[in-house]
Amino acid sequence: MSIPIYTYDAIIVGAGLAGCAAARQLQKAGKNVAVITKLHPLRSHSGAAQGGVNAAFSDEDSVELHEFDTVKGSDYLADQDAVEFMCQKAPQTIRWIERMGAAFSRTPDGKIAQRPFGGQSSPRACFAKDRTGLTLLQTIYEQAHRVGVKFWDEWYVADLIYKDGKASGIVAFNIRDMQVVIFNAKSIMFATGGYARSYKVNSNAHANTGDGLSIVARHGLPLEDMEFVQFHPSGLSGNGVLISEAARGEGGYLLNSLGERFMSKYAPNAMELASRDVVSRAILNEIREGRGVGAKKDAVYIDVTHLGEELIMEKLPELRDLAMTFLGLDMIKDPILISATAHYSMGGIPVNIDGNVRLNNDELIEGFYAAGECSCVSVHGANRLGANSVLEALLFGRFVGKTMVKEIESIELRPATQADAQTAINEIDFVLNNNGKENVPELRKELQQCMTDNVGAFRTKKLLDTAIKKIKEIRQKYKNIRIKDKSKVFNTELQEAIELGHMIDYSAFIVESALARKESRGAHYREDFESRDDENFLKHTMAYMDKNGEIKLEYMDVKLGKHELQERTY
Ligand SMILES: Cc1cc2nc3c(=O)[nH]c(=O)nc-3n(C[C@H](O)[C@H](O)[C@H](O)COP(=O)(O)OP(=O)(O)OC[C@H]3O[C@@H](n4cnc5c(N)ncnc54)[C@H](O)[C@@H]3O)c2cc1C
Repeated sequence: MSIPIYTYDAIIVGAGLAGCAAARQLQKAGKNVAVITKLHPLRSHSGAAQGGVNAAFSDEDSVELHEFDTVKGSDYLADQDAVEFMCQKAPQTIRWIERMGAAFSRTPDGKIAQRPFGGQSSPRACFAKDRTGLTLLQTIYEQAHRVGVKFWDEWYVADLIYKDGKASGIVAFNIRDMQVVIFNAKSIMFATGGYARSYKVNSNAHANTGDGLSIVARHGLPLEDMEFVQFHPSGLSGNGVLISEAARGEGGYLLNSLGERFMSKYAPNAMELASRDVVSRAILNEIREGRGVGAKKDAVYIDVTHLGEELIMEKLPELRDLAMTFLGLDMIKDPILISATAHYSMGGIPVNIDGNVRLNNDELIEGFYAAGECSCVSVHGANRLGANSVLEALLFGRFVGKTMVKEIESIELRPATQADAQTAINEIDFVLNNNGKENVPELRKELQQCMTDNVGAFRTKKLLDTAIKKIKEIRQKYKNIRIKDKSKVFNTELQEAIELGHMIDYSAFIVESALARKESRGAHYREDFESRDDENFLKHTMAYMDKNGEIKLEYMDVKLGKHELQERTY
């Protein structure tokens, strides 16, 4: 049976902030664009963003300070041209989305309110209560619809059509009935979001399985800076569900079992509002040294009781709900239990400042773009500042959409053929028909446990070697999987098996890149190499995978700029 081929000017994979912003741009410019998404757009993880989105526009703040904070936060690994671009365009991006209808919380005199976030010199995060992401996603999705973007909801993208330095489409299947389809286009963008689901304790949506990264990597294309995984200081104890930095931004305290505000030892100036890597390590250190709280002594308290009911109900209502639902604790009356949780991925598909995906250090891929959390442009370097990521997704999504509008004119469509779907079809057949012994949820648990135990906020050669060995074992076991559901209707077992394949691949990148980086920088902390080593490691990791799953590492220069290297203290 022949596979349908649909042709568009542009295909966007992912309907979060980055994907919707790009799609709207393309459609408005008269291009015929389709967004393919495995979730309903409004269920994309962007909708879970709570705390805010940065832009320097108050009188006390400046674009230059925003740049400085971002570069310092990145532990000097960010590319400063991209940081400058983002910080300069941030205020107009907020006004742009506001004019489209996003209702931001206001100050009493009617200005957009801004709250303090970690590692920032000035209150800079604009917010809509603690539902910022949902407000923005609803706005941009509605506007994309309004201009006529075609959304293919609940279609799973299984492969990229790529050959000889040029991308020309994707292969997807309909989650409802497994129909396989080819989307052929001049221009393809990946906006597939983050991938912290490979950790047992994480703050991410179930869908954040890094499909986009592994799909790209399987074509022998590079992934950049994968060792830099952000552990957020405040996940609810036990399950990692996020308690936004807004809780500390509004004035919450972190307390250990002795009732001490322990951040005074680790970041005497910034205290609870030091950068995330610093606060997470401080929390884990308190726990390791026996000053944890809770039944297992594996958490610390975040206490907002002194802020009062009125402020909590006005500015943190969602967080209060989450703590009541999952811990049975009311933030108005009680401190709640939190610990570090895998949260965000600084690395990803390498792109230049215009959003073109890199083939290697020097060359670009024709017709292929990426934006948002799946990409690495690199504005976050080794550690992202809170509220810079919603900004990145929305802003680069929009501008990469503009790049695509421009470049589409000079790209020739390479017509797709039936053979382009073969890899995806083989993968589906393998998962459906393989008759082994391994169970997918069990294997996923093994992988997540391995990543949490060995590739967390504190790393050593020994732990990373253990992880490499374990991932190789898991990869072997994966060849021997068996799923029970052989049907073609909403076969979530099949989808989860494919997602696990992706999780194994990109996790191997995280571990191999972390093992080779013999220094501590931002979120990557090596207990066997505790200092930052600019002489040997002020560079981006570029990792490539061969057909056997072996990973080879190269490096790429960091784009330095006016913000000179300094020791990072808070
Ligand atoms: C709980 C939480 C709170 C956060 N709070 C903040 C905050 O306050 N401020 C901030 O700046 N950042 C925050 N972040 C980070 C920020 O929300 C994300 O980095 C950003 O929203 C990512 O947007 P995106 O468009 O790149 O991806 P997403 O919104 O994650 O969208 C990814 C899209 O890709 C699609 N997709 C993925 N794989 C496939 C596939 N194989 N086939 C088809 N479709 C696919 C999905 O369906 C989805 O539509 C938070 C993150 C979390 C988890």
